[in-house]
Amino acid sequence: MFEMRRPGAVLFDRDGTLIRDVPYNGDPNRVEPMPGALEALVRLRRADVPVAVVTNQSGVAKGLVSPDEMDQVNARVEELLGPFDAWAICVHDDADGCTCRKPAPGLVIRAAAVLDVSPRDCVVVGDIGRDMEAARAAGARGILVPTEVTRPEEIDQAPEVADNLIEVVDRVLTDAEDPVPAGARIAAPWARAMGWSRW
Ligand SMILES: [Mg+2]
Ligand SMILES: [Zn+2]
Repeated sequence: MFEMRRPGAVLFDRDGTLIRDVPYNGDPNRVEPMPGALEALVRLRRADVPVAVVTNQSGVAKGLVSPDEMDQVNARVEELLGPFDAWAICVHDDADGCTCRKPAPGLVIRAAAVLDVSPRDCVVVGDIGRDMEAARAAGARGILVPTEVTRPEEIDQAPEVADNLIEVVDRVLTDAEDPVPAGARIAAPWARAMGWSRW
């Protein structure tokens, strides 16, 4: 179904994927990377694959996390895991009926647009079914990395499952046949310079 080539970008869910899931966390001191997260990101950056975060933060809509607290947590994520080429964040809740909250595809589409790649060339990595549904709805490749909170049916229904983020990177980089030589690829320095993206 997917062409075997280097992805245009890898879009990561935040909670339970890049960092341990602390529900409605507004405290940067409680940010703890998931095993393998830093290594996975370093390898993707070295391979010149843009990396982004696509995250539901309904705690903001619920008033449990302030926008400033969320920014502090996200800044701590970048302190620990390095800079991301884009952040796409949904601060709404289910009742808001927005088009960005996963399983809707809005965050994936937005991150891909900021990175100037097609959603079809993106890999979405997450820990629950909502992440995989958002990937599918956007036409992206989804890879589920289950945690203890992932439900068995979410694992059964996932298009792909990996044990951890290292395995994800192994798979997406080694799946890429005939990689374009370094230097031949058009980088997007403006995307890096843009910093965080949200709406
Ligand atoms: Mg998650
Ligand atoms: Zn939203």
